[in-house]
Amino acid sequence: MTTHNTKQDQPHGKVYLVGAGPGDPGLITLRGKYLLEHAEVVVYDYLANPKLLNYVPKTAEFIYAGKKGGGLHAFTQEGINQLLVDHAKRGKMVVRLKGGDPFIFGRGAEEIEELVAEGIDFEVVPGVTSATAAATYAGIPITHREHTASVAFVTGHEDPTKKFSNIAWEKLATGAGTIVIYMGIKTLPSITKKLIDFGRSPDTPVAVVRWASTPQQRSVEGTLATISEVVQQADIKPPALVIIGEVVSLRKTIDWFEKRPLFGKRIVVTRTREQASELVAKLEENGAECLEFATIHIEPVADYRVCDQAIEQMRGFTWILFTSLNAVTYFFQRLFHLGFDSRHLAGIKTAAVGKATAESLLQYGIQTDLIPEKFTGEGLAEALVQSQVQGCRILLPRAQEAGDLLPETLNDAGAEVTIAPVYRNVPPQGVKDELRDRLLHGDIDMVTFTSSSTVTNFVSMVGASSPEALQQLLAGVTVAAIGPVTAATIRDYGLEVHVQPDQFTINGMVSAIVAYFREDKQQQKHPAALSH
Ligand code: SAH
Repeated sequence: MTTHNTKQDQPHGKVYLVGAGPGDPGLITLRGKYLLEHAEVVVYDYLANPKLLNYVPKTAEFIYAGKKGGGLHAFTQEGINQLLVDHAKRGKMVVRLKGGDPFIFGRGAEEIEELVAEGIDFEVVPGVTSATAAATYAGIPITHREHTASVAFVTGHEDPTKKFSNIAWEKLATGAGTIVIYMGIKTLPSITKKLIDFGRSPDTPVAVVRWASTPQQRSVEGTLATISEVVQQADIKPPALVIIGEVVSLRKTIDWFEKRPLFGKRIVVTRTREQASELVAKLEENGAECLEFATIHIEPVADYRVCDQAIEQMRGFTWILFTSLNAVTYFFQRLFHLGFDSRHLAGIKTAAVGKATAESLLQYGIQTDLIPEKFTGEGLAEALVQSQVQGCRILLPRAQEAGDLLPETLNDAGAEVTIAPVYRNVPPQGVKDELRDRLLHGDIDMVTFTSSSTVTNFVSMVGASSPEALQQLLAGVTVAAIGPVTAATIRDYGLEVHVQPDQFTINGMVSAIVAYFREDKQQQKHPAALSH
């Protein structure tokens, strides 16, 4: 049928059929992630979370293979099969990324059969199928010793009213303890009718879960008799799973995912790209959906002469102050660049604006001598002045565009401050239309600011022409600031600050945000109780 290329020097392609998991990108297997990291071609589906593509090298070829079930397909199944064959024959390492598990209602086998016929190497990596994920993330154990010992995975794609079905509904109705139906939203009314007709109690609890394991997850509950109506009322659309059985009743005890304090909240994180991850991770842990917009990009400065000179004459300084993580990173880069290491700082006292900065100093083997109680430049200035800086020489490596308060306060106290710019904050290129659009559509619950420059850059990024336009754009959006300086900058733009932590740290900020929404939720639940 096919002529195999047997030349020895011909590159040897292979296709990896990889399960992407149900939605949350954290639910892919380690093997799957490893293969994505090494892919030369990746062919992915509608249901595979696009965030997973971040693991794929930028040099790879990205091919989107499918649209929503029932809708238009970018490729036919034959087209996809051919695509895999062609790329493998060109010697490529091809990852075929499919939602959930590739061998559960995924047509994975059809693709493999074609590869076998063409003599192409392949491997299959299982994934967490959406049925188990949807149940788990809706607080439903699909088996339970006291409720059921069997479970059936069924496709609802096949219309049960058609004369000859591949599914033995009459046996299934009472034969399986738990029944999980994929692709069953359109046919739900006829499925539930069939199950009741074949003897399953109309009171059997049923849950329907849409976009399971993602921040958009939605679930509804009912019984076999009522669920079709519930789904229609709630306007639940595919992709969703239907879970039928006594185990659904355990949800009232076990439900956890949708109960997390920030679930359903869309929060804009306007940290610098380099530092966003910690805040994002902690907000997501609490259930939020984070939209990361880099408002600041950190770059080296053009001229390091002041810094270099200070490093060469390090012994002349009593103190070195670090007011940001970036200052630490860039200062040490320069120190190493000049051929020194941390020993060069021996005998010099160090101060850091806060705990995170002190922790990063520790990574370079440096204990911080002074951390102010208030984690601000002002707090740092006060603490230093108290420690007697009269006549001291102080080195301050920092951003090119930082404020004067700290050095001026120290100068006034009789210190001699050398400001050494070691990095620059630059607004990222390109207007963020998406952010603007989403704000305009009321899609955003909260915007977070972790420094004054994130505020300034955010304002220029959303392109508000006047304070009024800005206020309008942020109407109904909760604004969070990490500390008083950031809050003051926000107010300078005529905006209100709704959340501000007592502790000016990322953890402090996350706790304050959680507390804010908890109160908000309670107020919605008991508006009367709180108005007294
Ligand atoms: N191979 C996939 C299933 C593909 S069939 C797997 O193992 O999960 C497509 C159907 O899967 C959808 O119609 C829907 O019923 C279900 N599905 C996939 N992802 C889902 C999700 N995140 N939430 C709810 N249902 C999902």
